[in-house]
This record gives sequence, C-alpha cells and structure tokens, in this order.
Amino acid sequence: MRDYIIRGMDKKKTFRLFVASSTNLVEEARRIHGTSPTATAALGRALTAAAMLGMTMKGDRDILTFRLKGDGPIGNIVTVANSKGQVKGYVDNPLADLPSRPDGKLDVGGIVGKNGQLAIIRDLGLKEPYIGYSNLVSGEIAEDLVHYFYLSEQQPSAINLGVLVDKDISVKAAGGYMLQLLPNVDDKDIDRIEEIINKAKPISTLIDEGLSPEEIMEELFGEFEMEVLEKSYIEYRCDCERDKIEEVLVSLGEGEIRDIIEEDGQAEVVCHFCNTKYKFSKEDLLKLIN
Ligand SMILES: [Zn+2]
Repeated sequence: MRDYIIRGMDKKKTFRLFVASSTNLVEEARRIHGTSPTATAALGRALTAAAMLGMTMKGDRDILTFRLKGDGPIGNIVTVANSKGQVKGYVDNPLADLPSRPDGKLDVGGIVGKNGQLAIIRDLGLKEPYIGYSNLVSGEIAEDLVHYFYLSEQQPSAINLGVLVDKDISVKAAGGYMLQLLPNVDDKDIDRIEEIINKAKPISTLIDEGLSPEEIMEELFGEFEMEVLEKSYIEYRCDCERDKIEEVLVSLGEGEIRDIIEEDGQAEVVCHFCNTKYKFSKEDLLKLIN
C-alpha cells in the first residue's frame, strides 16, 4: 500500500485532523542512510511530522523545513517537505544508537536529547521565510512539536508519531496523526478528545495492525462524525540535480574553486538527503570558473 495522508474535520468543525501512514517512506530513508534502529525511529518520526506539516501549505513551490537539534548522539535531524507530499531528510549521525528503554521502546528522547531547539521554517516564496523556534521538552519529537505549536503559533494540538522497527532492522510500520483544536471547540469535547488519545494504542501499532488512515480516523474519532476533506500520497523524494550542485560550487567563487583544483584535482559533492555523489573533474571545474 502506498503511503498517504488524509486531512479531515469533525462535523461541528471544531478540530482538524491529519492522519499519515508513512511505512514505505521511512523504510526508504533507512535504506538510503543506513540508520540504526533508534535513529530510524527518530528520523522517521520527524519525516512523518514534516509530511503532515507540508500538507498545511498551499503553494506548489512552498517548502517546509523541520529541524531538531538536541544534545543527544544523533546530532541534527533535518527534514524537508513540500505541499506535493514529497519528503526528504537526514541526520548527522545515522549510526548513533542507544539501548531500548525499560518499557521496550526505542529511546528516541535519549538519542535526540532534551537540551536543544527545534525550528520550523516555511519558505512560501516571499522575500523572507517564516521561522519559528522553541526549546525541546523531551526529544521525543511529537511532544516537542506540541510544545512548539502552543508557544510559537498559539495552536493547541495533539500529535502522535510512531515507527516500529522489525527484527531485521527494516521498518515494520510508521505513521502519525496531528490534531489541531479550533477556537470554537467546547471544553467537554476537549476532555473527550484527551480521553480518547490517552486510551488509544500507539499509531505505529494501529498501522501495523493493517488499519488505513481513514480507519484510524474512524476508530479514534468516529463519534465526532469525521469527514475526510483531502487525501495526498506521500513519498521520499530528493530533488537534487547536477545543475543545482554546480550553482553551489559556482557560489563558492573562483578562488575557492581554484584551491580545490590545486589541492584535490577534482571535486566530489555528496547530497545529504539521498547520498547521490556528484563528481566534477578538473575540466568540469575549470568550465565552472568560465
Ligand atoms: Zn539528493
């Protein structure tokens, strides 16, 4: 089954809900980056969040970057999504790993670290991108995002992100949901939503049990008479190409390129997001100078 996200709303129009299945795209990220199980879970949660956040943008060329940097061994986690459902990402240290927590879960909070920041950068094609920051609270990513939305965008929300890693370290199931309360929601419904979320199985378990995003929406929030407003396929896709890498090299300036030629005789540029290697011979580099 292809990965996709649905966007829905309750009948009274008091909250928005995104539900994502992302097993294939997280497995693709694991395959590209060779991540350890805990790093797969951390990167997978961030990619799933980015994919859902990407769906909140309207423009064809809008780009959203979701970045986390805590004091844990994984280093930076960088994920990028557009409004067309294409997502990519990387972590500084894909091999970083930690023993599982006492409850058997992968220690994402430990590998990310509590002390640090997350940033959400929305490039909507305007002069300046819109950037919001907040401090991490647990490094578990979903909780950090809820905190971010509350502080930076005054948006009360509930977020669940999950990645189940199989014994052979491939991704068994991945997904997430993001619920955003609208200003007209009443207190009774807020209490009921909290109750549902606290009792619900983790999203990765629901996906692993074979439930589709529509079925998860129904299973959790069916009593609110949900309506699906939009469905978008999502995938891991890097849009790097040789022309763009050439532009980056040109932007280094003639002096820097001449230094590269002198020291190495050639250049190899590796894309962080897909690990594609771009090789530039001495002749290629001299052409760029001209
Ligand atoms: Zn690439």
